[in-house]
Amino acid sequence: MSRIQGSRGATMLVGLAGFAAGVSELVDGELWLWVETVADVVGCSGCGTRAVGHGRSVTLVRDLPMAGRPTVLVWSKRRWRCPEADCAVRTWSEGTPEIAPRAVLTERARRRLAGMVNVDGDSIAGAAAHFGVGWHTANRAVADHTDPRIDDPGRLEGVEAIGVDEKRFLNATPTSRTTYTTRIVDLDRHRILDVIPGRSRDVLDGWLTQRGDHWCAQIRLATLDPAAGYRKALEDHLPQATLVVDHFHAIRLANQAIDDIRRRVQQHTLGHRGRKADPLYQIRRVLLTADERLSEDRFQWMKALLNAGDPDGEVAAAWIAKEHLRDVYRARDKAHARRRMIAFYIHCADAEVPELNRLARTTSCWAEQIFAYHRTGKASNGRVENTHMLAEKIRRNAHGFTNHDNYRRRLIGRLGIKWPTPPTARIRGCQPHSAA
Ligand SMILES: [Zn+2]
Repeated sequence: MSRIQGSRGATMLVGLAGFAAGVSELVDGELWLWVETVADVVGCSGCGTRAVGHGRSVTLVRDLPMAGRPTVLVWSKRRWRCPEADCAVRTWSEGTPEIAPRAVLTERARRRLAGMVNVDGDSIAGAAAHFGVGWHTANRAVADHTDPRIDDPGRLEGVEAIGVDEKRFLNATPTSRTTYTTRIVDLDRHRILDVIPGRSRDVLDGWLTQRGDHWCAQIRLATLDPAAGYRKALEDHLPQATLVVDHFHAIRLANQAIDDIRRRVQQHTLGHRGRKADPLYQIRRVLLTADERLSEDRFQWMKALLNAGDPDGEVAAAWIAKEHLRDVYRARDKAHARRRMIAFYIHCADAEVPELNRLARTTSCWAEQIFAYHRTGKASNGRVENTHMLAEKIRRNAHGFTNHDNYRRRLIGRLGIKWPTPPTARIRGCQPHSAA
């Protein structure tokens, strides 16, 4: 016998088409709600004869939380039998599009879970806990709702400007090296287009080959990280595009030179690696800070410690070189930038510091791409950096992203797709949950 006596209120609460709800009870803080389908007349799929009841079985499936509680639907699922003796169908269980066979979650709960991750930015673990399911169940729901959108070729249409960056994926461990990915961003719409394992020319070459000639012909601008091997792949596939080395990447090269020189001078003068009390070690971060962001006191403090720890003025020369390079980016126009670049070269040559000679040589290889920055307003902007920062937050929050497919899905699902609906309010008063 059914436990359901057709409670209209409970049925409306569940709001699942074709179902009626009855008794509910609390089990370990979860709301268990008995439901069943309302169809009494069912035809056999084989011969169309009216089926006869063949008992019931109980299926537990998790649904959207109700009244702030994790909710389990206890579905008293009907079995049917075809009365026709020669019919091949014999018996079957009823089904519903809202609950897949052997599902742990209802379809609407899976949809909502994917929305929590892709739209609201919750972690898989957080969304899984919210629904009282395991990580893999939650990840599967996200994959089922995200992968078709990622695979949709329309997602990559209309792109005219791309940024290509190398980004760290897995940190080094005692047994393995740091691994990297190449991230491709739409500079106009500030969306992640793709995340590919590796950071070589071949990796980018393969990706651009897959896009095809028509797609590549639309690209008029590409920014790139000079540290990775992307240049040749971009020149081969996007001959008509302007290549740009943006501010962020060029200054990073200069900052690396500062760090290298600081470590060398430190080792040379004190005979050990940087320690807390060492003058150069104390200013290691200030050296990388933009001049105009240093207060007068801070600047004087840095100068005093340079006097103490940098007898030949090599670290100071590196700091000035970095500021010269920053001036290039702040120039009024390309001609102005060229003059400032010459000042940078002269400074590096006069300093007679090997690391600065190397920095000047690297920079001169990229001079045209640096000057191109002045022709392109969009080459580097805060919204793209913001996208990278959000991506980094996702990477850190999902401790141990070891699977590239999961990583790619999370980044594109969250930062690469414009989902049609705004974030929906937590319906029926779900409890707030950790966003971590
Ligand atoms: Zn039949």
